[in-house]
Amino acid sequence: MKDLSQEIRSSNTHEALGKDNKKLNAMLHCKCPVCKEGDMFKTSALNMSKFNELNKNCKECGFDFMPEPGFYQISMFFTYMVGVAIFVVFGFLTYLVFNDPPLWVYYVTIFIPTILSTPWNLRYSKVVMLYFFGDIGEGQ
Ligand SMILES: [Zn+2]
Repeated sequence: MKDLSQEIRSSNTHEALGKDNKKLNAMLHCKCPVCKEGDMFKTSALNMSKFNELNKNCKECGFDFMPEPGFYQISMFFTYMVGVAIFVVFGFLTYLVFNDPPLWVYYVTIFIPTILSTPWNLRYSKVVMLYFFGDIGEGQ
């Protein structure tokens, strides 16, 4: 009896882990939070002029990627937090690796990663916003 309950518990854990993995994978690939198939963005992150443009609806299930006007304005806080984290991490690494170099070295080693990560930073901020604050239904 005890083995059976343990087995049930572990299979539920595996299901939950599988569901979390699917959600994480969908987030990583910027897919629709409901069906996890349709693309959220019109182009890839490498398209410098349109990397941040969302599709209006999911092409697979029709989910509206704009739940309400101005929904993504709060995502700028995520963008800011990630930007500050990049700034702090690369600043600290520069200090450690180059043994407190001149100021211009900090400019180069902090601003280049910050600028290069901007498309992904902006896109994943929207993804996080939609997955955690969008009305995507129960059990998603
Ligand atoms: Zn969808």
